[in-house]
Amino acid sequence: RPVVGVLALQGDVREHAAAMERAGTRVIPVRRPSELSEVDGLVLPGGESTTMSRLLVTFDLLQPLRERLAAGMPAYGSCAGMILLARQVLDGRPDQEQLGGLDVLVRRNAFGRQVDSFEADLDFAGAEGGPMHAVFIRAPWVEKAGEDVQVLAQVPDTPEAGGAAARIVAVRQGTVLATAFHPELTGDERVHRLFARVVREAA
Ligand code: GLN
Repeated sequence: RPVVGVLALQGDVREHAAAMERAGTRVIPVRRPSELSEVDGLVLPGGESTTMSRLLVTFDLLQPLRERLAAGMPAYGSCAGMILLARQVLDGRPDQEQLGGLDVLVRRNAFGRQVDSFEADLDFAGAEGGPMHAVFIRAPWVEKAGEDVQVLAQVPDTPEAGGAAARIVAVRQGTVLATAFHPELTGDERVHRLFARVVREAA
């Protein structure tokens, strides 16, 4: 069984670990470079991207993680994890570090101050079994996606989404996946199963 790490500096680590175990992978928490070197893929959980970026520096993980991503390690980022994987961020802190891996421009806290969190049913490309119920918590959206980035899901133009136009909230680029929402909180494990498949195929 492939080994999936869950970046365990902050955020909803346990829920992701449980979901990846149920998806059939072995799971280890990753807090140091030696642990990172043991994994076949990595989940970057939600939380606070600015804090996580600082902790990556403190724990000497920033450079090793960038190198593994550049070498093609599969990764899945949820919410803050999506922000970290993005090549570029709008409304980030000046000292916020980007890991790269996803050729996208994301906007932090994009859905506006009035709407801190909301839920929506999304069509998720390739997912069988109907719409995906998605929970958004101070979520980013993808403002611009590069040519090699596949859009997996969008939030339609709804008042819950701040009356915005359709916004990209799930993407894939090769072996890197990201969602602006939190599938680890809803019990819908299709995203984790998809990531398990990506890791297995890459391993
Ligand atoms: N707003 C957070 C950030 O900018 C992300 C929120 C989340 O991960 N639920 O990092």
